[in-house]
Amino acid sequence: MSADRYFRWKHPLRPTYYTKLKFKPLNQLPLAIQGGAPTFPKGPPKWPVVDDAIRKSIDQALASGQWGVYEGDLTNQLHQGLQTEFQLSNSLLCSSGTISVELALRGVGVRPGDEVILAAYDFPGNFRAIESVGAIPVLVDVVANGWVMDHEKVATALSETTSALIVSHLHGQSADVDAIAKIVGPRGIKIIEDVCQSPGGRHQGQMLGLRGDVATFSFGGSKLLTAGRGGAILSNDEATIQRAKIFAHRGNDAFPLSQIQAALLLPQLKKLRIRNQRRQQVASKVADAVNRLSELSTITVSASADSMGAFYKLPILLQKNSAIERATFLSAIQAEGVAMDIGFRGFAKRSTRRCRRVGSLGNAVLAAENTMLLHHPILMSDEEHVERLISAVERCHKYCLEM
Ligand SMILES: *Cc1c(COP(=O)(O)O)cnc(C)c1O
Repeated sequence: MSADRYFRWKHPLRPTYYTKLKFKPLNQLPLAIQGGAPTFPKGPPKWPVVDDAIRKSIDQALASGQWGVYEGDLTNQLHQGLQTEFQLSNSLLCSSGTISVELALRGVGVRPGDEVILAAYDFPGNFRAIESVGAIPVLVDVVANGWVMDHEKVATALSETTSALIVSHLHGQSADVDAIAKIVGPRGIKIIEDVCQSPGGRHQGQMLGLRGDVATFSFGGSKLLTAGRGGAILSNDEATIQRAKIFAHRGNDAFPLSQIQAALLLPQLKKLRIRNQRRQQVASKVADAVNRLSELSTITVSASADSMGAFYKLPILLQKNSAIERATFLSAIQAEGVAMDIGFRGFAKRSTRRCRRVGSLGNAVLAAENTMLLHHPILMSDEEHVERLISAVERCHKYCLEM
């Protein structure tokens, strides 16, 4: 239907047309990209959300004067809160998730010339962090139809100079850190768990970040715990945190997290679990709907209390050589007011002067080319919004297939 006909059809001064609209099933309405009304005219839900608890926390920080000092009650409480929530006994606060990964590499003692293994599909800053410490990135593939390091590829990636791995839990999927630790642990190779996307997630009954040697967190503006900026590393090994601290301190903390940032984070930390649960429930619904559609797949969201994804992004993977164009699908869904975008570009095409590649990295290439990511705020909305989201995904899918 043309935009013009649709407008006349739904115009309030034409009650008969209006009635038609009311009884027209949602999935037969024209898409916004075809001139229809967008599913979410106001766009995606806002993030971060400011609530009374955050206001109160900031007011207190201002009233007490705590906001004016470098470190104090609030940063101390944040250390305590993070250590309790994530079950790790030492922490260092810092200015971003990006720097947290570099601090973690320094903390576990990576030296210039060492090799550090990471997945060929990962956050771009992780590759740079390895280069920043003078080490050499070694790329291994991700699991098939997924986004996390394939532990079966790790053994062949090891060399005499491998000193660490960065293992990221991405898009609600957990890497099998236990399996990786079995391979590298006996050789004294350290594991950095990047938990920037999944704070509070659990894998086989254990909190993410516990199985590696050090865990990294981000408090960036779009993340599940946010102070606009910020990060942290946590570890049960005091010496690891101490080494990172020595690097970060140059007479003063060079990558600080402020007390006012801590004031923002403290109330959010208390709500993390309940919010993760809600996001998990909705992610599970959306994932079921996506998995029913041809050419698209996503992760299986576990229903067991044992495992819980923390959903910073919900991934959707287009099949290899799909009839659906990623760019077309994204234009259509974005026009509906849904925050969905491409995933990471991955490192498979990086020059071999900068890194060493292990195997064909075929899964990582597919992930880089075919991933679409749904941003998390909509995962906390009510049933009606979720139904509308699912319908928008289904209609965009149909639209792309009929093109
Ligand atoms: C966001 C992110 C980071 C970096 O966090 P910033 O605080 O934005 O610097 C690192 N790793 C992963 C996997 C991320 O998603």
